[in-house]
Amino acid sequence: MSPTNGQLLEIFSSIQGEGLLIGWRQIFIRLARCNLSCSFCDTPVQPTENCRVETTPGAGSFFVLANPVSLEVLSTLVADWLERLPGSHHSISITGGEPLMQDRLLQEWLPVLRGLLPVHLETNGTLPEAFAPLAAHVDWVSMDIKLASQTGVPTPWLEHERFLSLAAERGCCVKAVVGADTPLEEVCQAAELVQRAAPCAPLILQPRTLDGRVPMAAAFLLRLQEQAARIHPRVRVIPQTHSFMGLL
Ligand code: SF4
Repeated sequence: MSPTNGQLLEIFSSIQGEGLLIGWRQIFIRLARCNLSCSFCDTPVQPTENCRVETTPGAGSFFVLANPVSLEVLSTLVADWLERLPGSHHSISITGGEPLMQDRLLQEWLPVLRGLLPVHLETNGTLPEAFAPLAAHVDWVSMDIKLASQTGVPTPWLEHERFLSLAAERGCCVKAVVGADTPLEEVCQAAELVQRAAPCAPLILQPRTLDGRVPMAAAFLLRLQEQAARIHPRVRVIPQTHSFMGLL
């Protein structure tokens, strides 16, 4: 039997600051656990005793719920927020950590949550087997390509390609975090992968931010974009925007 209670880290309401749905207000449900350990990771992923929940959507203050959290508690909370702020929220963002680490849980949760709002999955794109049975319950997928120059570990190209082939059937975008030390060849390899597996998906180059700034030469970013766009003509450059606005 699938679990119905999940290890959550936080539930809050904010503006999506990255990717295809940038600018839309979402209810974020952050799940614990991750299968990777990227060197730039700033998200605590270990399961905790409690999950923090905004007292009201967008309040920035929190109360705690004991983990694991039941689907009934979660769906009641989401329904309450939608009633309080009618029309404000575009979708629910399932994020992490790596949400697909709790894939059996999501098999129970996603159909119910999707009855409240469309579902957006944010994933590192390395667990295609976990994603396959969930694909029909997801409206948009934001998949990362984990470039070795940034994560400090080899890029899982094969897993990314298998994942992206499945995600291509949904609304899908691919994001690659880039830095001043990202080789052109690496970005070109990412563009080749997207062009092959999901030719309609945008590839978003996301420059790393440091203290609210992008510490990279604009000319270098343009060079990365030009080279990638020769291979895959849907390349965009978008930094994380929520930190500029002081949002969660
Ligand atoms: S995949 Fe995401 S959550 Fe996991 S270690 Fe990398 S940056 Fe952190």
